[in-house]
Amino acid sequence: MKKQTIAINTPYTRKDVYGALAVPIYNNVAFEFDDAQEMADAFCNRIKAPDYARVENPTVTNLEQRVKALTGAEHVTAFNSGMAAIGNALLAATEQGKNIVTSHHLFGNTLALITTTLTRFGVEPRLTDLTNLEAVESAIDEQTACVFLEVLTNPQMEVADLKAISTIAHKKGVPVIADSTAIPFTETNLKELGVDVEVLSSTKYLSGGGTSLGGLIVDYGSFPEINKRVKYELLFNLGAYMTPQAAYMQTLGLETLDVRYQRQAGNALWLAQELLEIPNIKRVNYIGLADNPFHKLAVRQFGPTAGAMLTIDLASKEACFRFLNRLKLVHRATNLFDSRTLAIHPASTIFGNFKDEQLEQMDVRQTTIRLSIGLEYKEDILNDIKQALKDDL
Ligand SMILES: *Cc1c(COP(=O)(O)O)cnc(C)c1O
Repeated sequence: MKKQTIAINTPYTRKDVYGALAVPIYNNVAFEFDDAQEMADAFCNRIKAPDYARVENPTVTNLEQRVKALTGAEHVTAFNSGMAAIGNALLAATEQGKNIVTSHHLFGNTLALITTTLTRFGVEPRLTDLTNLEAVESAIDEQTACVFLEVLTNPQMEVADLKAISTIAHKKGVPVIADSTAIPFTETNLKELGVDVEVLSSTKYLSGGGTSLGGLIVDYGSFPEINKRVKYELLFNLGAYMTPQAAYMQTLGLETLDVRYQRQAGNALWLAQELLEIPNIKRVNYIGLADNPFHKLAVRQFGPTAGAMLTIDLASKEACFRFLNRLKLVHRATNLFDSRTLAIHPASTIFGNFKDEQLEQMDVRQTTIRLSIGLEYKEDILNDIKQALKDDL
């Protein structure tokens, strides 16, 4: 069956007692057992039954199983934010004295997690240019715990060559952990491209309307120790499991993901082409444009659709602020892949606490606006962008 069908029709582990068709929200903490032996078996994983909602909940399990069916992963674990999923994956993969080979081009909090929080526990960050395969190869050594990368970075819009990087990492016995937030897992096959563990913020494409926070670890099973630590150590000891309410909303989101993605990516491609014609937009950065340096690699890895995120560059930071302030339809907000079109100036917000010198290393420019294209009618979005730029023409 095709993914659209699987997303909607993955069966429940146990049929709901009332035969509820949409997934029920099990808004409870404890689960009762018929006898002491069954209870002991559940707690010691000899039988599959939830016992306490910090580590298992049927509503969340259903979302995990749908994602498992869609990705072919061995294990899927849902968390209460994308950062929780990334944090748990990295805590499972690494330990004191090890290093993480990664890039300057990371989501701001992920970069801070790796360069600030984890360094306090003796984990060394190795920030490398991941588009330079020789640099990747020489950064990896005996103490490398993992290579961590984003499949499509923002706001730089850099695409990692997953096959090439994973081939290098695997030769040295090192797992590749990839943040796939920017491209839905229904559009790509990261396992085939050599990714060992996928992490993502389900807050974005999955929740869709920006309804709920969530994150997933999608584990392809090639480094079994990572999943063991996630499921039987960190989930218990850190307690960042997804809530049933978030799982419910994200399950609904997953059911409509394909149509939303096709519409939003279609809108984004059309807009990127239109924005090229506007004189005071200095640059349009979208991997769906044929002359984008990452276009061919993106098509090879993610298929013909290029996602709903693009950036534009204006003359200055001041021009960016004037543009944002004049928007009437497009919302000044952070989030990606909301149903609404959103605009943000990353350098002064998401990356606002980084120094100029760091921003330069990260290629986060004062002239860049990031747009997340929504489900609105495409010409309405374009007209708003045009009117917001008009006085600057
Ligand atoms: C939003 C985002 C995150 C963090 O996800 P939250 O759900 O906000 O915690 C991590 N990585 C990328 C690429 C993101 O866009």
